[in-house]
Amino acid sequence: MPGLPGLPHQFEAPRFCAACGGSLPAAIARHGGWDCGACGRPTFLDPKVAACTVPWLEGKIVLVKRGIEPRRGFWASPGGYCCRGERPADAAARETLEETGLVARTGELLGVFAYEGSPVVVIYYDCEILRGGPPAALDECMDVGCFSPREIPWEELAFPSVHEGLRAAIAFRERCERARGPA
Ligand SMILES: [Zn+2]
Repeated sequence: MPGLPGLPHQFEAPRFCAACGGSLPAAIARHGGWDCGACGRPTFLDPKVAACTVPWLEGKIVLVKRGIEPRRGFWASPGGYCCRGERPADAAARETLEETGLVARTGELLGVFAYEGSPVVVIYYDCEILRGGPPAALDECMDVGCFSPREIPWEELAFPSVHEGLRAAIAFRERCERARGPA
């Protein structure tokens, strides 16, 4: 079984064709998928797309403490996996509502973060809070917190994408402030 980025364990490779239930060969075909021995259709393991927001409340960034593995107990931005057919910006807003109770309107794209060996592609959005608050720890969260840029618990963030997303969010707001000029 050749190694595949993002698949740390051999048993995570698909064994059966979703179309016909036929067995898949152990080896990945040259096009990066597994060709079904019965019907010939290829099976691909595509990247997972996740979308997150960086909500600001009174100059502070809202983070959620993860209540589920992986990285349970570490801080992350509100967000989660996009459903098939769902716009990433809508998924980010939906997850933000589910996790914090905040009604967010996503705005500027802050970045798209992906890492060699990881199957997840993470999209970060700046957002405006329309309603709700104070934020609550809801779905899959054990806590919620608001942090000024200098209070962010950089050592306790769940994923590299959270680091990159927050840095991009802070830099974006600083650019906006500068563009607005002195009050
Ligand atoms: Zn098949």
